[in-house]
Amino acid sequence: MGNHVALPSLLELSQEDLEAIVVGLDQPAYRARQVWRNVYQRYAMDFESMTDLPRELRRRLGERIRVAPAESVGQQTSDDGSTTKSLLRLDDGELIETVLMRYDPFGERRARKTVCVSTQAGCAMGCVFCATGAQGYRRQLSASEILLQVLAQGRITAEEGSPLTNIVFMGMGEPLANYAATHEALTRLSDADGFGFAPRRITVSTVGLIPGIEQLARDHPQVSVAISLHAPNDALRTRLVPVPTATLGQLIAAARSHAKTTGRRTSFEYVLMAGINDSPEQARELAMRLRGLNCHVNLIPINPSAGVVGERPSQAATMRFLEQLVEAHIPATVRVEKGRDILAACGQLRGDREEGTAPG
Ligand code: SF4
Repeated sequence: MGNHVALPSLLELSQEDLEAIVVGLDQPAYRARQVWRNVYQRYAMDFESMTDLPRELRRRLGERIRVAPAESVGQQTSDDGSTTKSLLRLDDGELIETVLMRYDPFGERRARKTVCVSTQAGCAMGCVFCATGAQGYRRQLSASEILLQVLAQGRITAEEGSPLTNIVFMGMGEPLANYAATHEALTRLSDADGFGFAPRRITVSTVGLIPGIEQLARDHPQVSVAISLHAPNDALRTRLVPVPTATLGQLIAAARSHAKTTGRRTSFEYVLMAGINDSPEQARELAMRLRGLNCHVNLIPINPSAGVVGERPSQAATMRFLEQLVEAHIPATVRVEKGRDILAACGQLRGDREEGTAPG
């Protein structure tokens, strides 16, 4: 923490803002485009590393603005090398986590690298099986704090020689409860002059805030939405997701209209917990509800975490659940799991205050 802490982040600036700063330093405007490219195409996180700029300009820029509005305070990679979790400390001391997942089932040509970003410090939704929910809500992240996570993980993948391919808003927090920042971040991510991601490669996950789902369809029709269901009926769902969002019927209607407006398939997330929501009857009940919908169900066997509800179902129970859905012609898969040994898997993120160490 130096005296740079209060400087504005470049990630908050438009290209015009940056150009004004550069021109104010008596430098030609094209230097601003160079800086921009360094950040958004080469994932530079400080001015030092922008070696195509004169040293003096780098120094003077560094006195006025900074690239990253946070400090990286820890990084862990899973034993199999597939997952890297990074811990970032924001200006006010809040810690957030972001996860990079590498999938390479068919060799390099089909390699996928996905970054999972957080949109809030903590979360107010209180899902009973989630470590982030157990910690409660702390604050909204700004768009630049969301973008920073993509920058940080993008930098790792750039160093590895293959780019980030997908972005999921599935980390800490409920993205649609922080709509303004999520919207701004999505705009910059998909902007050809920003990170330039195809919006189809971006997914926003929600526990089911319907006005947000509708707004997202209007603002970012190409972005996929993943709705967390976790239960085949309202009685069980309100026990698992205690903050009232919408009834299942309303959620499914919202998914139907989202699919219709955008032409995109809706994903449903379903965290499987032994003895709670993993029976074949519950699978059939779920299939009944989803019948006729252009959708896909992601089954996620829970990752047990200290202090939260839910035991992991057996492999056999997971497969039985999957079969019931598939037999009822509901497209479904069991999520390939990443990073369980470093607590980077779904529902395990909690921005632990011990630097760089996962909770035991
Ligand atoms: S599962 Fe998502 S919405 Fe639910 S408490 Fe955790 S972070 Fe919040």
